Amino acid sequence: MLLMIQIATVMASISSAQIVAKPFELGEVKLTGGPFLHAESKTAAYLLELDTDRLLAGFRANAGIKSNAKNYGGWETGGLSGHSLGHYLTACAQEYSRTKDRRYKQKADAIVKGLKECQVARKDGFICAFRFDKGFDPERLNKIWNEVSRGELRSGGFDLNGMWSPWYVHHKLFAGLLDAHLAFENVDAIEIAKKFGEWAINITKNLTPEQWQTMLGTEYGGMNDSLAELYSRTKDPRFLELARKFYDNRVLAPLSKNEDNLSGKHSNTQIPKIIGLAKLYELDSKQSDRSTAEFFWDRVVNHHSYVVGGNSNGEYLGPPDKLNDRLTSNTCETCNTYNMLKLTRHLFSWNPKASLMDYYERAYYNHILASQDPDTGMVTYFLPLGMGSKRNYSNKFDDFTCCHGSGMENHTKHGDSIYFHQGTERLWVNLFVPSELNWKEAGVSIVQKTAFPLENRVSLTVSCGKSKKFDLRLRKPAWIDEQIKFKLNGKQIDSKVDQDGYFSFNRTWKDQDRIEFELPTKLRIEAMPDNANRVAVLYGPIVLAAVIPQDESAIVPRSPVFVAENREITKWLKPIAGKPLQFETNEVTKPYPLRFSPFFQMHHEKHGVYFDIFTSAEWSAKESEYRTEENRIRDLESRTIDFMVIGEMQPERDHNLASEKNDVREVNGRSFRTPMNNGWFEFDLKCDPSNATELVLTYWGNDLGSASAEISVDGVHIETTNFSTKPKNRFFDLNYVLPKEVTNAKEKIRIRIAASKGQRGPSVSGARLVKQKASMN
Ligand SMILES: [Zn+2]
Repeated sequence: MLLMIQIATVMASISSAQIVAKPFELGEVKLTGGPFLHAESKTAAYLLELDTDRLLAGFRANAGIKSNAKNYGGWETGGLSGHSLGHYLTACAQEYSRTKDRRYKQKADAIVKGLKECQVARKDGFICAFRFDKGFDPERLNKIWNEVSRGELRSGGFDLNGMWSPWYVHHKLFAGLLDAHLAFENVDAIEIAKKFGEWAINITKNLTPEQWQTMLGTEYGGMNDSLAELYSRTKDPRFLELARKFYDNRVLAPLSKNEDNLSGKHSNTQIPKIIGLAKLYELDSKQSDRSTAEFFWDRVVNHHSYVVGGNSNGEYLGPPDKLNDRLTSNTCETCNTYNMLKLTRHLFSWNPKASLMDYYERAYYNHILASQDPDTGMVTYFLPLGMGSKRNYSNKFDDFTCCHGSGMENHTKHGDSIYFHQGTERLWVNLFVPSELNWKEAGVSIVQKTAFPLENRVSLTVSCGKSKKFDLRLRKPAWIDEQIKFKLNGKQIDSKVDQDGYFSFNRTWKDQDRIEFELPTKLRIEAMPDNANRVAVLYGPIVLAAVIPQDESAIVPRSPVFVAENREITKWLKPIAGKPLQFETNEVTKPYPLRFSPFFQMHHEKHGVYFDIFTSAEWSAKESEYRTEENRIRDLESRTIDFMVIGEMQPERDHNLASEKNDVREVNGRSFRTPMNNGWFEFDLKCDPSNATELVLTYWGNDLGSASAEISVDGVHIETTNFSTKPKNRFFDLNYVLPKEVTNAKEKIRIRIAASKGQRGPSVSGARLVKQKASMN
């Protein structure tokens, strides 16, 4: 009986007055071929390889329950421990909904049972796998949460009183439990979520609105989304009230006034807040929630996204419509696109317009599909768009990250947006993916046959008993600029596109009626918003990329470019016979010819997505620039006394590097070190006592705000360098002439680079001591 009630409320939560178009359940849409089906099979197999005891290990440790299982690697051994379990529950729920394969139910049930034991053992409703650097410490964790409950808050972007984005992790767990409740009808799952929700109410009940805002300065994922869903399932208004409190004024208030304040913000911290607003709008119809979500979507999709539908560089958003100088190996965090697609589905359900699904399709092929290695099923964190960059994939057990977790979800729900419906009267066909729809409610099934994008033909066959009247709405993709010719049962039939971008076939369908059409797909280019001469090549919705040959001997890497006096792409790129979606260039690409194929298929090669277009004259000038740079580097090398790569272990050890408060990262295959607030690092370089010397530092032009640094040698201040006007998102050298007195009669010197007071320092990638030209002997 209890079970029946729970399910009835689950169903009730889904129907909302605001929803025009409803998605189908995953089990109602079966993929029948193509790369998305393959992607699903890889992730489905991977989910079965994961051990539920290992996923539960941290939760048990914090509940005082003994376990011999070891956490998984990556972020699961650090402060974000536990987030993967939430993703895993959601992925198992999706896989079970899709296939009804009971192995996923067994996995999820085992986890829910384990979480229940943890919750019972702790008594306060709290379940958490948080791990400190030195290991699990439930007492210390309790102490910290008590501080939080008293409003003693220390909050940074990802840090709350020494915990790494705790509400972000809690959100993943809530979402997983709610999905398990829905898919497996697991009543324990909702009971655990309720008790956990009550803990959240309790721990935050004394916080003032100001203290709330301080706490929300730390990433909190989609807590508002899950709590709103918990309310809709339980009808307990306290959860709705708490959901509303997860409202970060700093970001959401300007957005609600149509102000794009996203520049410099961590992208994936913001998107889930907006998804939560979308969910809240569906519950209580507050118009400003809807308009904020619609405004945000438009800004991110049309002003902050790259051609593949992804956004962010190094996880952060930049100024709107400025993407030209934000191309690196760290573009497009995959979670961001996972979340943008989720948001798109909300918007589409309120207002089913083709433009929303144009974005969906773009991101779906060129980012989501591209983010999974079809051989191993493993996924990328970033989708790199920098020239000559290459994807990095996670591995099965040792480097869990947010994108590894959302990756499990991405590839267990590929059928979720191909079709939407309104009651039994209207059916939207959004995507061209081979599939079978079982529209139970209407007594209709649809078989979609296509090999798109390899081929352009699509057919839809309707099975509906004797006959059935409904409006079949077929999306006209924005990348088609001509009329589509339709045939119904072999005879031509006309249809016009309506204001929402759909062809409407509103008729009484007979069993086995068949619509056939071809998608007139063409090559085209899309330019950067801030540089008409930097373009990506597309075939229909499919972004094409070229393999960039490895040229290890090149002193200066040369980016291939298009040298063309006009923009007629079909004159430059020719299809390769017998190889669908593959194209080659004639002499138009310099310095070598290129082969283009779909970016989503390019998994292990260095690739290029955006290319510069030059005229012949510009190309000649570029050639001489290249020679000049080549000569400059040759000259530097000939004068070098000592050189070290910064951010790599061995060279740093060889040069006795010491540091405090540093961040070490990598971009475009090169490492760098950044002294954070009040941070510094120092190291030795060999010196030549008989020569005047110059220090050459190679910087990465980080675009996260300005930075200035104090450069000193053996305690002597050499210069305060300000980086606010220096190049962004590329490597560049600065030379410092060293006064004789600091190098005189020395075999080695110690260089110190410190962030100026109150600032984050620059990112330094290399250091070189060279003889001064004039003093060369
Ligand atoms: Zn991520």
